[in-house]
Amino acid sequence: MNTSVIGYPRIGKDRELKFASEKFFAGAISENELLETAKNIRKEDLLKQKEAGITYISSNDFSFYDNVLDTAFLFNIIPQRYKDLGLSDLETYFALARGYQGERGNVKALAMKKWFNTNYHYLVPEIDDDTVISLTGTKPVDEFIEAKELGVDTKPALIGPFTFLKLAKFTGSKKISDVYQVLTAEYVKLVSALASEGAGLIEFDEPYLVRDLDDSDIGLFKSIYSEILANKNGVKILLQTYFGDIRDIYADVIKLDFDLIGLDLVEGRKTAELIKTNGFPSDKILVAGVVNGKNIWRNDYKKSLSVLNDLGVGNIVIGTSCSLLHVPYTLENETKLSDDYKKHFAFAEEKLSELKELADLYGTDYENADQYKKNRALFEGRINSEDKAVQAEVAAITDSDYVRLPVFEEREKIQKEILDLPLFPTTTIGSFPQTQDVRKNRQEFRKGLITKEEYIEFNKKKIAKCIKLQEEIGLDVLVHGEFERNDMVEYFGEHLNGYLFTEKAWVQSYGTRNVKPPIIWGDVSRKEPITVEWSKFARSCTNKPVKGMLTGPVTILNWSFPREDISIKESILQIALAIRDEVLDLEANGIGIIQIDEAALREKLPLRKSDWYSEYLDFAIPAFRLVHSKVKPETQIHTHMCYSEFTDIIPAIDAMDADVITFEASRSDLQILDSLKENNFKTEVGPGVYDIHSPRVPSVEEIVNALTKMRAKIEDSKLWVNPDCGLKTRGNEETVKSLKNLVAAAKQIRG
Ligand code: GLN
Ligand code: ZN
Repeated sequence: MNTSVIGYPRIGKDRELKFASEKFFAGAISENELLETAKNIRKEDLLKQKEAGITYISSNDFSFYDNVLDTAFLFNIIPQRYKDLGLSDLETYFALARGYQGERGNVKALAMKKWFNTNYHYLVPEIDDDTVISLTGTKPVDEFIEAKELGVDTKPALIGPFTFLKLAKFTGSKKISDVYQVLTAEYVKLVSALASEGAGLIEFDEPYLVRDLDDSDIGLFKSIYSEILANKNGVKILLQTYFGDIRDIYADVIKLDFDLIGLDLVEGRKTAELIKTNGFPSDKILVAGVVNGKNIWRNDYKKSLSVLNDLGVGNIVIGTSCSLLHVPYTLENETKLSDDYKKHFAFAEEKLSELKELADLYGTDYENADQYKKNRALFEGRINSEDKAVQAEVAAITDSDYVRLPVFEEREKIQKEILDLPLFPTTTIGSFPQTQDVRKNRQEFRKGLITKEEYIEFNKKKIAKCIKLQEEIGLDVLVHGEFERNDMVEYFGEHLNGYLFTEKAWVQSYGTRNVKPPIIWGDVSRKEPITVEWSKFARSCTNKPVKGMLTGPVTILNWSFPREDISIKESILQIALAIRDEVLDLEANGIGIIQIDEAALREKLPLRKSDWYSEYLDFAIPAFRLVHSKVKPETQIHTHMCYSEFTDIIPAIDAMDADVITFEASRSDLQILDSLKENNFKTEVGPGVYDIHSPRVPSVEEIVNALTKMRAKIEDSKLWVNPDCGLKTRGNEETVKSLKNLVAAAKQIRG
């Protein structure tokens, strides 16, 4: 029985790619040194998979930043403003990803969006009327050859043209219908280039097929692939889908001349049913995605094998449900977690063994096999993870716990009077630069090299300085700076019962940014007050209002590896009750403004509209309200969200019933403003006036322009002025300059 992996993590086992890239950005290493690091990572990843006995291994799954950007680059979809910089190819590539500010010019990065329902972000390709789509790159071919030279025969993995076009932004008058034929023809050339290098199988990733598709989408997909499949050049083609089922197009897809079809049997709720009702052609191979590429729990062999057996398909390859990019490298890196826990987990490397074991077991009398019995035992016994008190508290929640009174309009009046802020109040999203000294202090404390008192003392000095800096800059609502936090979820998780932590379980979020999601092991409750002391101290340093800073329950859950033995809803409610305790503690300690970040609210929104409310928003939004429903009318609740599309869930966001919301807008050209207006958005808003994901300093004029656009859509009395996200990844110098310009812009508009 054969196995297939859609994609492997590419950041390096010890995040080598991040460190090398950052050095390259800082001018500390050469382009060649960076290329060398990348090559070593690819080599290690390929050999790892080969040693594990995987049949179909992908090449071209590596990326310096993002695969969608790679695809744009491959086909010369590079807006002229980046070409005009006259940089090297790799530097141009990074200019698209991160923006460029230097002697050659000043250009913003492409917009960044969440990759389907994951915490990975892709760069949105821009196609304008001057774009000449043409296969000018060679990455897939180069990486195929490189793998072949290492003795690994790979399937080049490509983002398919359908998904690519659906994700691209058309900035001129051209539409998909104007360009798809040209793009398809260039893909055909690529297939032929790969064929002449000896590729036997090519993978086309088309995750967009799991979304709601209309007739024109289906028509487009068929036109594109009839062309590609008519020009296979002797290569076999794998259509790979993931993140759900392809119910709108399954019947059409199986009629096309694909040789293999990859379907997701983990997230694809209807995949098995589709196969059973429509059948699966006997001349094709099904790549059955049963090993979860998104979560870290061991595969339940009993379940997977019975799913596979029930399909009634003859030709099966055991596959991952999606790219393993979304899970950490290897459990081998975890030295502190006891084996009692570890044996329940599988990271990318361990998933390779699972694929192999499943392939060995499938089709045999597996119930007596050792591997099977060992796997069964994991699901029969587990260290106790229950907390009856929490379960009872969740069961006792009533409808009124989800409602904050008085209503928004009344609170708004009360708060304006009490807070007495100027028009267009200025603020930040919470974190200030996490400079070397800040990280060092935290690390030394963790390692026991400094005492708790020393650790606290250092942070207090930082807070005092940060407050002073904000006063000097002239901001209106201050923050303490979040120096105590490594990360907005792990930090909270550490103060909650029911959480487990890893040392090196990093997962790529965007570019060189990786996150280390904690694991929800059991029932969740708050151990002790979490942020209260820091906020109290910050407040004591100033007469201006200081915002308390928390992470909301939906984000905590979405950025953790969730349990699979209880529902997501149950888990979110447990977390909401824990964060509610913290909100009420902050309020009791005199913190009059509290921000509850829901950066990842949209992340788990089902990909199909028909599931949005019933499968998610109907419990996620009330869970947020549960967190703040008990505060006093004068306590102002803020929330914050980042990089994703909100336009279509504006009513749900308003229903969170926060008093103020700040969000990312600068990278998506302020589209969201129209939607706010159309929906009569009641919550006060701070659409980010500049992009913090790049070191570029926005000018006063640029911010004034952004604000002017905002004022056309948002009432003056509701508009806040702030950057689009936390400043922790930025340096001090650029931060101070940017914020000074921000304050100057607000003042100019007030005048
Ligand atoms: N309060 C957090 C910060 O400023 C929010 C981070 C985020 O939205 N990703 O860092
Ligand atoms: Zn943010």
